[in-house]
Amino acid sequence: MSGLGRNTPASFGATAKGAHPGTKGNAPLSAGTGSEVARLRGMIEQLMHTAAHDPLTGLPTRGLLLERLEHELVRDAADGARIAVLFVDLDNFKLVNDSLGHGSGDEVLCEMARRIVGCIGPEDTASRFGGDEMVILHPRARDDSEVSLGRRILAALVEPILLSGKEVGVSASVGIALCEPGMKSAEQLLREADTALYAAKDRGRARLEQFDEKLHARAEKRVQIESDLRTALRESQLFVEYQPQVRLKDGSIVGVEALVRWRHPTLGIIPPGDFVPVAEECGLIIQIGRQVLQESCRQLADWMRLMPGRPLAMTVNVSPRQISEPAFIAELRQVLADTNIDPTALCLEITESVMMSATDEVVRQLDQIKQLGVYIAIDDFGTEHSSLSRLRDMPAEVLKIDRSFIDGLSSEPGDTAIVSSILSLACAMGKHSIAEGVETREQAAMLLRMGCEVAQGYFFSRPVAAERIVPMLTRALWQPRSERALHTAHSIEGPVRRGHRYFIDEFLEHIGAPMGTKAAPSP
Ligand code: C2E
Ligand code: CA
Ligand code: CA
Repeated sequence: MSGLGRNTPASFGATAKGAHPGTKGNAPLSAGTGSEVARLRGMIEQLMHTAAHDPLTGLPTRGLLLERLEHELVRDAADGARIAVLFVDLDNFKLVNDSLGHGSGDEVLCEMARRIVGCIGPEDTASRFGGDEMVILHPRARDDSEVSLGRRILAALVEPILLSGKEVGVSASVGIALCEPGMKSAEQLLREADTALYAAKDRGRARLEQFDEKLHARAEKRVQIESDLRTALRESQLFVEYQPQVRLKDGSIVGVEALVRWRHPTLGIIPPGDFVPVAEECGLIIQIGRQVLQESCRQLADWMRLMPGRPLAMTVNVSPRQISEPAFIAELRQVLADTNIDPTALCLEITESVMMSATDEVVRQLDQIKQLGVYIAIDDFGTEHSSLSRLRDMPAEVLKIDRSFIDGLSSEPGDTAIVSSILSLACAMGKHSIAEGVETREQAAMLLRMGCEVAQGYFFSRPVAAERIVPMLTRALWQPRSERALHTAHSIEGPVRRGHRYFIDEFLEHIGAPMGTKAAPSP
């Protein structure tokens, strides 16, 4: 495929140049010999082909696909077959392009096109719509043949691609929409396939989704949320609640996490999970994040005035979009200057997935944040596959252990082992750890025994309005039950934990080199 794509324009150029002298200047077409006419016809066909095909992949263009789709949509519906459109999009194309360069990106696209062409039938059209988006017209869909086609494409694309001798893994998502001839416009069918693709990405990528009414309703809701959010920002409908972070050994509050909420005029209070992803996508998160940062720092300054000398940290969630904004550092500086809070009392939370996929630019931003004295925490730690060497090099001082592991602390031995490993890892790397989502006394007690310093969760307090934090600052939110139990627990846990520490230390020693290859004594 790549050969065809690349060679088409070049070979056409050669034909055109060679043809010119033969046509004797401006001689009319009719004056040519039979073979000349045939050659000219060939040239014109080639020209039309070139115009209708993508020069890189050789696939039909968007225009040609639309033409064929329009044609199918008005055909006779008597054969009972339906018209399917499949949207295919690579999940990590940007990463390939950014990390391996555009040349490699082009190779991936050509290979992707070749594999898709290998999956389609003689009646189907696979086109390149732009970027890494390919659209397939499957005009005779019967007995879920469109789903089988989508599955074949997914399977073909998941095979690693060989790029300059190296295997590169890519995956794709597929969105499918269907209709009977005459029932929908091309535009609508394509929009529906795009909505389905979007849902496939949203539900974890590397999968296939079919458009249905539920998806339609969801897509409409998203559009509504986006529009309402714009009003919310203008009319100050967003507000912040604070969840205490508790020092386990004495129950005192050492900090709070700022969590945004939306007071919607008709729908009531909307949790961030329902609007932050939409805001992230449409870019409104930058404004939201700015408001939350300003408001929470202002709040901390208020508390500091109320209780001078009472140490308290403010933790604020920062989204990937925000952290990638070049203006973020300047804004952060401005907030610190305006509120006059101690930068070391501020901690910014960035999720593990964002941290691990951070570009050099983002890492530079993080370094600058650290230079200001502001702390950085890795949120939802343990949910991604963190590279230990990357973790070591990241300018983050705090690991927040994801709630999913705390849930199974007393019941799932696996979770207990994970929590214990994260605690050891944090300790070995000289980082602090905070356990999230503690809901029971038992979990709190276990975490304390395992050496966890700070935790947050419903067991201590739900996120609450700012004024409810003040009375909590002067009392303990829990009392570890008995010193004796603690002591015994430590002595049981001690050797295990020490053993674990050795393992981790040993392991860290080897980071950057495969185990066993470092410092191997020469024979
Ligand atoms: P997160 O940063 O992991 O925040 C913790 C979430 O867990 C909060 O949900 C909190 O209310 C909830 N939680 C705390 N303790 C417990 C517990 O014991 N049990 C259970 N089941 N849940 C607990 P919330 O407030 O709904 O926030 C959800 C997510 O929305 C946050 O997860 C964060 O990723 C995002 N978010 C919240 N505020 C902001 C913000 O200002 N900016 C950005 N970018 N994201 C935000
Ligand atoms: Ca968080
Ligand atoms: Ca979290």
